Amino acid sequence: MKEGIETKFFSKIFVDGAAVTNRIKYTILQWCAAVVHFLLIFIFASVGVYSMVLFNIGSTICYLLCGILVKRERYILFYYIAFVEICLHSYIATILVGWAPGFPLYIIGIMPVIFYMHFSLDESAGLHESLLIGLCCLLTFVICKVISYRIEPIYVISERAATYIYIFNTFIVFGLLLFFSLFFLREIQFSRSVLEEQNARLDKIAGIDALTGLYNRRSMDKILGNASASGKTFSVIICDIDDFKRINDTYGHNSGDEVLRKLSEAIISILRENDSVCRWGGEEILILAEGTPLSGAALVAERIRAQIEGLEIKSEDNIIKCTVTAGAAESTEAGSIEEIIGLADDRLYCGKKSGKNKVVFE
Ligand code: GH3
Ligand code: MG
Ligand code: MG
Repeated sequence: MKEGIETKFFSKIFVDGAAVTNRIKYTILQWCAAVVHFLLIFIFASVGVYSMVLFNIGSTICYLLCGILVKRERYILFYYIAFVEICLHSYIATILVGWAPGFPLYIIGIMPVIFYMHFSLDESAGLHESLLIGLCCLLTFVICKVISYRIEPIYVISERAATYIYIFNTFIVFGLLLFFSLFFLREIQFSRSVLEEQNARLDKIAGIDALTGLYNRRSMDKILGNASASGKTFSVIICDIDDFKRINDTYGHNSGDEVLRKLSEAIISILRENDSVCRWGGEEILILAEGTPLSGAALVAERIRAQIEGLEIKSEDNIIKCTVTAGAAESTEAGSIEEIIGLADDRLYCGKKSGKNKVVFE
C-alpha cells in the first residue's frame, strides 16, 4: 500500500510532470538543501571541524528562510542565494578539509540547474546569465583545486572519513542532477505534446468554414481526393442558393449570413454520417455522398431542396424564405474528380437556366 502511494507520487512528479507546479519543485529543492546542510552539521561535527558546523547551521537556517522566496515565486533569487552559498561552502571546505571529501562537486551539480530554470521559468534573457553562471562554476571548481594544491588543509581528517564524506556528497550531487534531468525531460515532452495538440487544433480550424461550420474547400479537396483514390462509387451534389444576391440586397448582409448558417444546419440534418459537406464557394455547398450511386444522390438532393423550400428563417424581425438549385453527378460518369464536379456544376447551371429551385442529375 505504502509502495503504491510512493509510486503514484513518483509518477505524478516525473511522469505526469505537467501537473507539478514550480512551487512544488522548488519547495522540494529548498527542503532538500536545508536537510543536506543539516546533515553536514553532524558530518563536520563528527570530524571535529566546528567552523564548518557553524557555517552549515547558518546555511540550514538560510535554506529554511528561502521557503519565503519559494512561496513568493522568487525562484531565480533562490538559485542565486544557493549558488553563492555553495561556492562559499566549497572554498571554505577546501581550505579547511582539502579536496578529498569532494565538496566542490556541488558546483558541478548546480551548474545545469540554472539552464533548466531559465528554460522552465520562461526567462527570456536567461542565456547570457546562464553562461556567466556556468563560467563562475568552472572558475570556482578550478580555484578550489588550485587552493587544495597550494595550501595544506587546516584540519586533517582521516582518509576513511574523507572517502565516506565524498560518497555522501556524490550521492547528493547525482541525485540533484537526476532530479533536474528528469524534470527537463518531462518539460520537453510536455512542451512537445502541447505543440502537437495546438497544431491539431489549428489544422482542424483551418479546415472549417468560420461562418457555417462546414468543411471548407481545402478540407473537401482532401476528402474528394481520398474518395477518388478509394476506387468506390460516389456522387457529388452542388447546391447553390437561388437569388441570394437579392436576399442580401433586401434583408442585408447579416441576414444573408444567417440564411447561410441555417441552410447549412438544415443540410447537415438531412445527410448521413459518412456524407461530407463543405462550403464550396460563396453560397454554393458541395456534398460528397460516398458509396452512393446517382439515383441515391438525386433523392438526397431532392430532400435537401424540399426541406429548404419549406424553411422559414428568422432574422432581424424578418422571416426569410429561400430555395436552392442542385446538380448531381456520379463518379463513374467521368474520369477525374474535376470532371465529375464539372458535370455536377453544368447540371446546376441547367437547373438555374430552366427556372431554379430544382434538382438536375442528367
Ligand atoms: P443565382 O440564383 O443565379 O445563383 O443568383 P445569386 O444571386 O444567388 O448569384 P450571384 O452569383 O449573382 O450572387 C451570389 C451572392 O452571394 C453575391 C454575394 O455577395 C453573396 N455572398 C457570397 N458569399 C456570401 C457570404 O458569405 N455572406 C453573404 N451574406 N453573402 C454572400
Ligand atoms: Mg446563387
Ligand atoms: Mg453561385
